[in-house]
Amino acid sequence: MSAVKKAIFTLFAAGYALLLCAGFLCGFSPAAEESRYRCVWENGSVTMESEGTAVRLFAGISEEGEALVRRGDEVGRIALGEEAVHAVSVLGGTDLAAIAALGTEALSLFGRALLNLAFAGRLFYADGFFVWQNGLMPTENFEAEEIVLFGEVPASALRRMKAHMLTVTPTAQLGALAGCSFASFRAEAPYTAEGDALYLRTAGGVRLLTASSEAEELILGEYDYADRGALLASEKLSSLELPFVGNALDPSGTSADGTLAYLFSDGGSLKKIKVRGGALVSHAFYACPSVEEIDACGLSSVAADAFVDCKGLTLLHSPRGDILLNGNYAREELPCGCFLYRKIS
Ligand SMILES: [Zn+2]
Repeated sequence: MSAVKKAIFTLFAAGYALLLCAGFLCGFSPAAEESRYRCVWENGSVTMESEGTAVRLFAGISEEGEALVRRGDEVGRIALGEEAVHAVSVLGGTDLAAIAALGTEALSLFGRALLNLAFAGRLFYADGFFVWQNGLMPTENFEAEEIVLFGEVPASALRRMKAHMLTVTPTAQLGALAGCSFASFRAEAPYTAEGDALYLRTAGGVRLLTASSEAEELILGEYDYADRGALLASEKLSSLELPFVGNALDPSGTSADGTLAYLFSDGGSLKKIKVRGGALVSHAFYACPSVEEIDACGLSSVAADAFVDCKGLTLLHSPRGDILLNGNYAREELPCGCFLYRKIS
């Protein structure tokens, strides 16, 4: 359980206990005739759990029911009523109108408590930040497990976010995401989330928007353009495979930038790079101090001084054999027609 979830959980557990107490003191006494719920555990045993226990052991909610975890790793499940299942499906989805219109009248106090607990970590951005607490409520707490984006989203709004997951709905219009940091992505067309990276499909081609802040290895798919700083958040990256180096597969005009640094400020931790296509310009890897291996097999256009800044290079797979390198390298021809440069220490 993350720190955020723990904090939210504690808050709700306390709140819920307070509600039960208040009810008891006022004579409603839900505590006195507290309902019990049938919990089926993974080991096959069945127990009847009180609302208090169900809240205390809360580990998540899905249309299959509430998940409980006891003694660290024993998972059980309490089935939800029809209304709660519907609410879970709506709140877990990306239909903003349905989320905004979701009523909770048919739900029990317990059902509402579970839903509030389950979705407290999910922020919605739609002209402002909202959290669902028996309805969409404006919030100024930007710490969340997940943020779901609708409509026009200024980058400044996202930069102050701390969320593990970014969900991009079809209505979202995003500016550049450089400076934002998310570990994982969910997306609906025209956005796609593949292999820890987020893309936007437009009539003009596919655009790389950003990639995971947690990724150590990244194999980027095919795209036509990349946003400046698209890999800025990926500070743990040690291995990168990409379709081309620079801002566009076919760079044109004055905005052409054929360097890897276009995607980073500097590729600090990057050790291994594989480029599948495009051209490698002069000093294409000028800001990658720790790179040890580059594979540029089969590229048709490579400047002789493309790799000259890679002072730590130990292994280079290059389509041409007259490459300028810093230091002493042994060169051998490969069956693919390329040359392998190996650093001699
Ligand atoms: Zn080759």
